[in-house]
Amino acid sequence: MIYSISFVIIIFKIKYGNWVTHFLSERKYLYMLSKFYPDLLVDTIMDISLDFLRANNISGLILDIDNTLVATHTKEADEKLISWANRMQKNGIKLCIVSNASLKRVTLFNEKLKIDAIHRAYKPSAKGFLKGAEKMSLTPLNVAMVGDQIFTDVYGGKKAGMKTILVKPIDPREFFFVRLKRYPEKLILKSFYKKRGKKV
Ligand SMILES: [Mg+2]
Repeated sequence: MIYSISFVIIIFKIKYGNWVTHFLSERKYLYMLSKFYPDLLVDTIMDISLDFLRANNISGLILDIDNTLVATHTKEADEKLISWANRMQKNGIKLCIVSNASLKRVTLFNEKLKIDAIHRAYKPSAKGFLKGAEKMSLTPLNVAMVGDQIFTDVYGGKKAGMKTILVKPIDPREFFFVRLKRYPEKLILKSFYKKRGKKV
């Protein structure tokens, strides 16, 4: 509930400017908005550098599947992804899938990757993320969430006390409910870039 209210206020504030400030202090608003800001924004998982992970004491990654590791409609992990996962693990980075997808989808996808995995995680609930950290025997402080959605992955990862890495969605052909969330996401990203002084 609180999630939905803050969500609506943030969207209105970004879209319609300062009138929201009449009943919400700027500090509180920025605090709310910060819950949706990723710590790092990259094009693809291939751009996550080991330097960034080391500098932030990250020894484990929680991975979303759909549109983060592969396109939503892709059933299996490809060679490029498998070698990325191997490279990460060789460098001491543990990996765990946390997905809202079914057991069947996650198991088939993970067949070649063979990493820890949690299905039906009910993101943005923090529970699945915390379970993932536990599977890797790490505290949330040493884990980063990697996902393509602000309102499920980033918001949930932050709630679990993790660093968050947002990737650009791989495939624009998405499910209806995911597409609905892309517009408000765009607004949040716009304000994120504005704050960091970058272009959209
Ligand atoms: Mg996703």
